Amino acid sequence: MTRERSTKIVATLGPSSSTYSRIFALAEAGVNVFRLNASHGTQHDHAERYRQIRAVEDTLGRPLGVLLDLQGPKLRVGTMANGPVTLQRGDRFRFDRDPTPGDGSRVSLPHPEIFAAVEPGQNLFVNDGHIRLRVLARDADRIDTEVTVGGTLSDRKGVNVPDTALALGALSDKDRADLRFGLALGVDWIGLSFVQRPDDIREAKALIGDRAHIITKIEKPAALTHLREIVMLSDAVMVARGDLGVELPPEDVPGLQKRIIRLCRNLGRPVIVATQMLESMIGEPTPTRAEASDVATAVYDGADAVMLSAESASGRYPVEAVEMMDRIVTRVERDPLYRTIMDAEHPQPEATTSDALSAAARQIAETISAAGIATFTTTGSTTLRASRERPNVPILGLSARRETARRLALAWGVRPIWTDDVSNFGEMVERACVMALQEGIGTEGRPLVVTAGVPFGTPGRTNALRVVTIEGGGTVTAVRQTMATA
Ligand code: PGA
Ligand code: MN
Repeated sequence: MTRERSTKIVATLGPSSSTYSRIFALAEAGVNVFRLNASHGTQHDHAERYRQIRAVEDTLGRPLGVLLDLQGPKLRVGTMANGPVTLQRGDRFRFDRDPTPGDGSRVSLPHPEIFAAVEPGQNLFVNDGHIRLRVLARDADRIDTEVTVGGTLSDRKGVNVPDTALALGALSDKDRADLRFGLALGVDWIGLSFVQRPDDIREAKALIGDRAHIITKIEKPAALTHLREIVMLSDAVMVARGDLGVELPPEDVPGLQKRIIRLCRNLGRPVIVATQMLESMIGEPTPTRAEASDVATAVYDGADAVMLSAESASGRYPVEAVEMMDRIVTRVERDPLYRTIMDAEHPQPEATTSDALSAAARQIAETISAAGIATFTTTGSTTLRASRERPNVPILGLSARRETARRLALAWGVRPIWTDDVSNFGEMVERACVMALQEGIGTEGRPLVVTAGVPFGTPGRTNALRVVTIEGGGTVTAVRQTMATA
């Protein structure tokens, strides 16, 4: 199957998308990475979905990425004694550490870190920012506030503390349990929610090692103060506009989206734009004009991937939402203006052999109108550097490591292929040609640019670039053998 689309699609699974046939349909419609959201459902649900994804992957013969998105240190109020209460603008309201169920004057807030951190004049938000309160006074056990935007308060509603960094670690007890579960399952990516500081990522990395790669979700204003370091430490990034748009005014989010995407592209970290992309498709078979424009904007911005949340997890039209996203992305990528934008700012190569070769590979491929760039990679890093160049030809990411191929499913322009290792130059050329033909990116006689590390099988050492002519012939048998051992 040939897909011309370079920008990838991430889809969240949930009650609307848990059967084998539904997951198969989503993958066929164009999903590259499936997201399991640890904030909803049980580990049992996620394990079942994981098995279905891998079964679909086997059937399609195309690597699929799986992201387990941890809930993170999500803050919530306690319960209410007599059901929901309505808070009015101007009301006084107290948060305290008394577990007694709350009422119209107070509620329990079981997070001592908040009491230690907030200062008079700062804001507390409840229920996705629908209720807003300003801190008047606080001590170690209570925070007295005035309601600035009223609304209905009910049991266990989420709390946002936008104006200060809290002394919370990156991972709650639930996150640690979910992390152990996800690593045992074999997920490719771990999503870290509410990251505030670089050490949050270091802490997670120390637990995860190289068993999975980390997607840092940018959804706290505090993260913006060390954004560059945070992106550097991450394997990929998500612009998590849901919570980001609660903690910051909505008008701040579009500019930040562009800034984060640009930084990620510069540093060569895949970046996902997430939340409310086709929100109205939760209940309707078509999106609003504004939503179509939002997906298109993320693509024009140069994102690696766009994401569906409730649209695919709990909506009525999960497959239609993916199809719609696929159509919008494809249309943008065919617009000559898109190419102009991608070419306007090529990030500078770093002073490494790998980067010099990646930049050269793009220039050569574009100059001679090559069918594509084939990269042989162990860890995936060479292929990501090629993706960072945003070439106007497809990139084959060939790896003998299955987890590498699966992780590359997220990267812009990359067609990941899990294949046997090659042991010499001749094999490398043959394999690249066969895969180019099989992927339908080129025909016999077309040039193909190939990069690899010599000697073969040494990670992190891309030092060879070769231009070859695609030849098929006897190599079709070689493909079959590869497929059989895969
Ligand atoms: P969530 O993250 O869906 O886990 O909250 C995404 C976001 O906040 O945008
Ligand atoms: Mn979030």
